Amino acid sequence: MISISKSATCLTPGCGRIAYSRGICQRCYACAKQMRQNGEATETELIDAGMMLPSRLPSISPFRAAFLAKTAKAKASTKTKVSLTTRTRKSAHAKR
Ligand SMILES: [Zn+2]
Repeated sequence: MISISKSATCLTPGCGRIAYSRGICQRCYACAKQMRQNGEATETELIDAGMMLPSRLPSISPFRAAFLAKTAKAKASTKTKVSLTTRTRKSAHAKR
């Protein structure tokens, strides 16, 4: 399915492990996932920083990436969405 060249190594500087997915090794992939779950970084931020490759789907065009890099709007709205969902859940729970 996902074709990664056999000799590809992790994008993380100084890591040197074999790339597992999105251009990074299993360990870095797990770390990136954790960072996203903790809200430390969004997937877009990681991709923009060159820490991981975009998914196979060309969801981020160079134009969009450039736009996202110039404005924090998209990042902020993503975070707001997440916190709103949490808040809605909490308040809905509290009301009952
Ligand atoms: Zn790595």
